[in-house]
Amino acid sequence: MAIKGPKGTHDIIFNEINKWHIVESKLTELMQLYDYNEIRTPIFESTELFLRGVGDTTDIVDKEMYTFLDKGNRSITLRPEGTASVARAFIEHSGFNEVLPSKFYYIGPMFRYSRPQTGRYRQFHQFGIEVIGSINPYLDGEILELMMNIFISLGIKNLKLEINSVGCPSCRPLHKEKLKNYLKKNYSDLCPTCQGRYEKNPLRIFDCKNLQCQEIINNGPLITDNLCEECDDHFKKVKYYLEMTNVEYLINKKMVRGLDYYTKTAFEITAGKEGAQSSLGGGGRYDGLIEELGGPNLPGIGFAIGLERVVLTMEEQGLFDKLDNKHDKVYVANVSENNINTTIKLVQELRKNGVVAINDIMSRKLKNQFKYANKINADYVIIIGDDEIVNHIYPLKNMNTGEQIYCSLDELIKILRGV
Ligand code: AMP
Repeated sequence: MAIKGPKGTHDIIFNEINKWHIVESKLTELMQLYDYNEIRTPIFESTELFLRGVGDTTDIVDKEMYTFLDKGNRSITLRPEGTASVARAFIEHSGFNEVLPSKFYYIGPMFRYSRPQTGRYRQFHQFGIEVIGSINPYLDGEILELMMNIFISLGIKNLKLEINSVGCPSCRPLHKEKLKNYLKKNYSDLCPTCQGRYEKNPLRIFDCKNLQCQEIINNGPLITDNLCEECDDHFKKVKYYLEMTNVEYLINKKMVRGLDYYTKTAFEITAGKEGAQSSLGGGGRYDGLIEELGGPNLPGIGFAIGLERVVLTMEEQGLFDKLDNKHDKVYVANVSENNINTTIKLVQELRKNGVVAINDIMSRKLKNQFKYANKINADYVIIIGDDEIVNHIYPLKNMNTGEQIYCSLDELIKILRGV
């Protein structure tokens, strides 16, 4: 029996990759406009980084990590997210001695051991950004504007940006106590997971899918109503920035997000769907993370976007039909094997001049070469027969209109490059 790919993974194969290239090139183009540098970190790290960086009360660390011992008996984990690695690299390479803020973006695979379903994989891809070194609320605003701009530039409709403030180490402990006091009387009605969360991180009970837990927590005190002056002021300025730049948003006081390191601003974007796999991306501030990982006390903020979900949403919204920015493609057919040298040289010359050119490599008959040209959606076909070898004038057939014109190599290049 043939071997299949591991459960929860998927291949990006055949024409599918074109969709990814469309998304990725838009992302890198925008990153240039906002002046971010790409960062590439390893896909595996010491397990300890995620225990400390992501937090041991999170689902990711609790049950979703791909952790193993390597041959040197070190505990290694395939990265489940990008922020901890970026923070680790920033500290390791003394980013704090460089000009601040540091602005990074990354694209790459992430690994989480969860139950696979549409929009949820064990290996998936994230695009993310991280900015380290600025506490300015206008940075939060700019990052939210950038995240929305990404989806808008890709043409995605029905976007919903939800924001919240999850407080900081000065207001969260007080709120945590209030919440625990409130939950105390309902403790025995909480699910076992939330009973565990009660001590360590009761805010996360807002994320529980269990209806009874939801009912209990829904009437509990909200962190947003209990912010310290600094967090409250910060949140007001973030909202002001969004209004100034015409970014539509909703406040979701119950959104806490899954990771432990968030402080102040937290956010999430969806596009017209509800439910568990509806989130296209999210992020927030992590003002304590760099210090937690052994660096100086520097604030940070970032987001991650799930690329499978972006591609899926764009398919559902029919956006790939319109975003066709590929170059014209020409198929150079040869009448018989005798013409093959001319065909090969012409294809080489066209490619040298920036034209996408293909020729027969299956020893097909002319009729079948045409069929092939159709199948690969060639925009043009040139047929090389005995006359062409002598005259160097080539018949160029437009496959959409059926029109055929005769031209020299120079003319061919001009037409095919669209200049
Ligand atoms: P998170 O790092 O959990 O905040 O997730 C950020 C984004 O990554 C989500 O909004 C999803 O779009 C995507 N994502 C997270 N987990 C998965 C997964 N298992 N499979 C596919 N996409 C995911």
